[in-house]
Amino acid sequence: MALMTKEQYVSGLRELGHSVYIQGKKIKSVVDHPISGPPAMAMAETYYQAEQEGNWQLFTAESHLSGERINRFTHIHQGVEDLIKKILMLREMGRQTACCFQRCAGLDCINTVYAITYDMDREYGTPYHERFTEFLKYVQSNDLVTAACMTDTKGDRGLPPSKQADRDQYVHIVSEKKGGIVVRGAKLHITGAVNSHELIVVPTRALREEDRDYAVAFAVPADTKGVTFIYGRQPSDTRRLEEGRSDVGNLYYGGCEAMVVFDDVFVPEERIFMKGEFPYAGRLVELFAAHHRASYGGCKVGVGDVLIGATAAIAEAQGTERSAHVKDKLGEMVHLNETLHAGALASASKGYRTPSGAYAVDPLLANVCKLNITRFPFEISRLAQDIAGGLLVTMPSLKDQENATIGPYIRKYLVGRQGVDAEKRLRLLRLIENITLGTGAVSYLTESIHGAGSPQAQKIMITRLIDLEAAKSWAFHLCGIPF
Ligand code: SF4
Ligand code: FE
Repeated sequence: MALMTKEQYVSGLRELGHSVYIQGKKIKSVVDHPISGPPAMAMAETYYQAEQEGNWQLFTAESHLSGERINRFTHIHQGVEDLIKKILMLREMGRQTACCFQRCAGLDCINTVYAITYDMDREYGTPYHERFTEFLKYVQSNDLVTAACMTDTKGDRGLPPSKQADRDQYVHIVSEKKGGIVVRGAKLHITGAVNSHELIVVPTRALREEDRDYAVAFAVPADTKGVTFIYGRQPSDTRRLEEGRSDVGNLYYGGCEAMVVFDDVFVPEERIFMKGEFPYAGRLVELFAAHHRASYGGCKVGVGDVLIGATAAIAEAQGTERSAHVKDKLGEMVHLNETLHAGALASASKGYRTPSGAYAVDPLLANVCKLNITRFPFEISRLAQDIAGGLLVTMPSLKDQENATIGPYIRKYLVGRQGVDAEKRLRLLRLIENITLGTGAVSYLTESIHGAGSPQAQKIMITRLIDLEAAKSWAFHLCGIPF
């Protein structure tokens, strides 16, 4: 069976030897650094969950390539049921970690590249699909994490890649060498990049003939010469450096993004999946976007479940849970959260078979789901903060409890209803703070706006996908206008 254990993943990551910088210093191991450790543990949870036999239905699948049981995070969807199971799996992961657990971007990327390489080969007679399938067998049988490296630095957004003053603003082919190509550029916001074994690089936008050198897709191992990771800062990330870490809110997990620099990196031929086929760049981006926009209706909903739970618990701890407006607000939070999930499940249920055999979600519903995600987590967070009260941002540190002079004051004055001690109350508030203001808010809020494409990108797709002519014809028919 091709499943790695959590322990194997963690020890392998410790030994990976990739070049990672945090706050100006090259670090030895992402697992052991206090800032990057919790995100590594969130990724590791994708292994732990698949290890549990009771979870196999959701967290594993049968590979269509080898017939082996594999982690679902490396699976090519073979039907609508797989698309639905992915969404359910991501919600469960969100509940377990309350953060971005990072592995779905790679999952959505392999499903995209698998389908697009098949289409390219049919049109151009290229060997990309066979190459990618070989790469995928390697990923599946070794249970590897793949990072989707899509977003380029973009420079002047009013100019296409080839017109940039600095050509490196988009990853591109610098030269061809015997047996491969040399690439240069940098990718931004790469989720889970530092916790990945393999980087899959794909274009970030539709391209024209003059941008041919930018129509490039490939995979390289994370420790490849010329690849450097620069870790993204998050609000209150340095709380993880504090002794005891009691004020971090989420004690175990976190998400992470990094800037990934490709400084004249050699890519061997067998790892190249697109080289100049510019008409397919835009199609690749659209397919990836649909997959990933639906994914958000899994992970963010799971985080929403935790936030709703923490909010209900703090209301109980503070003695407000029977108040009509609190009940109403909790109901509103659930309504918003489940609406997000409904969009993702609907897009999966209306999934379709691509010519490659891989299934993809309904793009209109996936975009509707993601556009809601740019808004609803903010409203859910607002309601959570409303119910939690102002202590959320004025409470003392949990460490103050340990001080002999002021500890008794904390324990006396910050109690909630009878029987609820101050520590329970403060821990719950810290978790709500983490998700709505701290490290967790990076993925629950701002990533909900911009991840998998900003709101305007979803609006554009929605207006492109809607059949307005058909809608007009139904109206004309009913009011007696000939058409
Ligand atoms: Fe997965 Fe959600 Fe993180 Fe994207 S934001 S990688 S879908 S957990
Ligand atoms: Fe994302």
